[in-house]
Amino acid sequence: MNTNNKMLKSVCEKIYQNVSETDGKVHKANFIKNLKKRGILQDDPRITEFLNKVNQYHGYLDKDTFIDCISENISIIEECFTQNSVIPKFEEFCNDLMQIYEKCKKETSGKMADYIPQLAKQNPDHFGVSVCTVDGQRLNIGNSNIDFCVQSCCKPINYCLALDEHDKEYVHKHVGREPSGSEFNALKLNTKGLPHNPLINSGAIMTCSLIQREKAASDRFDYVTEMWEKMAGNLKLGYSNSVYLSERMSADRNFALAYFMNENNAFPKNTNLLDVLEFYFQCCSLKINTNAMSVVAATLANGGVCPLTGKQVISSETVKHCLSMMYSCGMYDYSGEFAFKIGLPAKSGVAGGIFVVIPNVMGICTFSPRLDDYGNSVRGVKLFTEITKKFNFHNFDNLKNTDHGKIDPRVIKSLDEFTAEQIIKYSSLGDVSALKRIRITNGDLSHGDYDNRTPLHLACSNGHLNVVKYLIEQGNLKDVNPVDRWGGTPYDDAIRENHVEVSKYLTTKNGISGSEMEK
Ligand code: GLU
Repeated sequence: MNTNNKMLKSVCEKIYQNVSETDGKVHKANFIKNLKKRGILQDDPRITEFLNKVNQYHGYLDKDTFIDCISENISIIEECFTQNSVIPKFEEFCNDLMQIYEKCKKETSGKMADYIPQLAKQNPDHFGVSVCTVDGQRLNIGNSNIDFCVQSCCKPINYCLALDEHDKEYVHKHVGREPSGSEFNALKLNTKGLPHNPLINSGAIMTCSLIQREKAASDRFDYVTEMWEKMAGNLKLGYSNSVYLSERMSADRNFALAYFMNENNAFPKNTNLLDVLEFYFQCCSLKINTNAMSVVAATLANGGVCPLTGKQVISSETVKHCLSMMYSCGMYDYSGEFAFKIGLPAKSGVAGGIFVVIPNVMGICTFSPRLDDYGNSVRGVKLFTEITKKFNFHNFDNLKNTDHGKIDPRVIKSLDEFTAEQIIKYSSLGDVSALKRIRITNGDLSHGDYDNRTPLHLACSNGHLNVVKYLIEQGNLKDVNPVDRWGGTPYDDAIRENHVEVSKYLTTKNGISGSEMEK
């Protein structure tokens, strides 16, 4: 650890005081259990360095060892222990969800999809639920590690990819954005001869024709899986070749839709229909579990920034459009009812998966294969019904003068609540994902403290190139050379602390020394 960093030292000390036992040591397993209770799971990339170090030890850790282990991942660990996350009482929230899960598990009505044998072979009793908040607090219940085919859950993701690659005018020259009022695979187009929206089969086939058109089919498929994995915080996806083969064998309707759209000149010029259809079947055959899917949903809830990696995977503008579509068209012919009763953007697929996005709060994914008459998972719909009965998550639960008696488990930090001090702390600790969350809510990343030391000064002084780049390139900083009380610029900090990469980078962005400025 860089012992010069006083801030880091004092934060580590505080956590040590919090978790050490009477003999002054920290019990490793208890500490990891504590992280889990607060929603930080062992596959969370934000604690990889901590786990790599701590796994070299057994049993108890002395103070210095403990501090050394946590120092690299300190901001996420601190966030857990200061209950600074979006769901501060995460354990309580989890207990409520587990009760809801048990209640829904008793529900055994519904029928599995059987239009292809592979789906009929699923275990009807499987039931998994996973949650991931925008702060990356996670919970897995039941069969959360069983892979299922995404099927129609690929549709909003493909829509996002198409929108991020082109502008929305171009995309919507080829697909509408109205609920169709008919079945998801109805042989029907809108008055312009276009599919009604991107979340029914015709529209999803259309968005497939808009993604990475110039690439070979193999590269295009790689691209889509990579994007899924980025949204899932690098948790892995699977693929079912047998589902793909049988989708292709039983695809008369999808072929009919493609030809019908082609007859109406709905596709971009030079579209290879067979290529597009195969790509669509492949996307439906991707496999995921609720654990990873909840992270994908949380990335949408977080404006396109994956909570586990802090990376902006898709633009927030795209997410906004996608959630609007999911809100009105995501649940087959139950979409209107779902919007009315549950009030959240959602998408379901015939394999039994449903994911729901609670903007700025969390993503939730359920998997249970028995479906209702609309094609939605019975337990899944029940679970979301129960969740929104208990918590005020419905889009319109928070109207003024509402007295619904529901619980609000979240603390949404408004822009003013992120004090300059916190922003400076995150910059000093090197936590880009925390800064990104602040920008999403339009916090000001350029404010200095009492000594006019700004986030950029602290990031440079501590050598956090990633933060420096983020602040300058995406933080809308107007000035790369703010001067502190002593006349020093961030560039001076980088030079003084010998952070060569940082000072080199600053030079490319017109960073100069305070002494140069006076000339
Ligand atoms: N592969 C299915 C189809 O194209 C998708 C079904 C679904 O999940 O809605 O018919």
